[in-house]
Amino acid sequence: MNEKKIQSINKPRTWSVTRRELLNKCPRAFILKYGFKKKQGGFNRHLTNISNWTSPYILMQRALRGLIIQRLECASRGVKWEETDIALKIRSRIIGGLKRQKSVLAVIEKRIGKSSLLRRNINKKEIDRLVEICCMRYHSIISAAPFSEILNGKIEQWFIFSRLTSTVVNDFDLHISPDLVWIKGRNCHLLRFNVQGLSKLQHHKSLENTAMVIWAINQKGLPSNHERYVIENFVWSCGKWNRWIETCNLTDIQNARGIIMKDISEMQELYNRMGPALDLSQIPLAKDESICLDCGHRDTCPGGENLERASLIQSALEMAKAAQKRA
Ligand code: SF4
Repeated sequence: MNEKKIQSINKPRTWSVTRRELLNKCPRAFILKYGFKKKQGGFNRHLTNISNWTSPYILMQRALRGLIIQRLECASRGVKWEETDIALKIRSRIIGGLKRQKSVLAVIEKRIGKSSLLRRNINKKEIDRLVEICCMRYHSIISAAPFSEILNGKIEQWFIFSRLTSTVVNDFDLHISPDLVWIKGRNCHLLRFNVQGLSKLQHHKSLENTAMVIWAINQKGLPSNHERYVIENFVWSCGKWNRWIETCNLTDIQNARGIIMKDISEMQELYNRMGPALDLSQIPLAKDESICLDCGHRDTCPGGENLERASLIQSALEMAKAAQKRA
């Protein structure tokens, strides 16, 4: 397949909060994760796994999210659920994640020919601590409303959705579905839960919330009137689950659409900067060193070694190319 065709296939056409956040944190990490996805052979086929690299603490958060969803799925299908082996379930999710990362590490180290900066020893004590944190957060969310009301049958009409399901708007795939929907009286509640967040409702959360309403009014069987939606966030922060409840108006919906379309156009503009030769030197690096610490690309990305110096070189390369174009 020729370069132009590959470039056209990989051009970003999908929006999600995760993509938006990564784009803002590090444009290079965004392109490495989403810009080389299809029809790429050689080392590029490993890019997704390397991009998904994360710290044991985030693996614990992923385990927690997976377990809560599994719990709700079992309840929706009427499958029996044992609460007694929660710690075991969590441990096996965390250890599974660490094992998968080990094979990613082997790929990275084979490529760089030395020990990776990502290599670290995780002892049993550390895993025990993560399991304990995860168990506590799991029990705390499951015993809180609306989860408890769903599990004890008080809320009868409820549904779960995967965030991987997309809604097509203006030919773009938007991952904006809620995790949980339930009907109470005239209202339809849309909820997303975040296993780690900030103590105050952030601007991007409001955007995410309004986007859920765009998703909902496009669904058959759900109200088409935005006024009937109650938007909820369940977020772990400051040692507890916080529940935020909001509504939205037509202006909020229009603004959310506008921001999403602007984001997609920024993603595409960034991707186009690489040109058909997929020249990564044109893509800016992370805004903060802390972002590089747990990035799977830090062994092979100039920002992983010295972000300040690498950012200066990168902007010089970008300016040189722009000057070349003007000449
Ligand atoms: S190492 Fe840093 S600059 Fe490079 S891709 Fe990762 S986060 Fe971005």
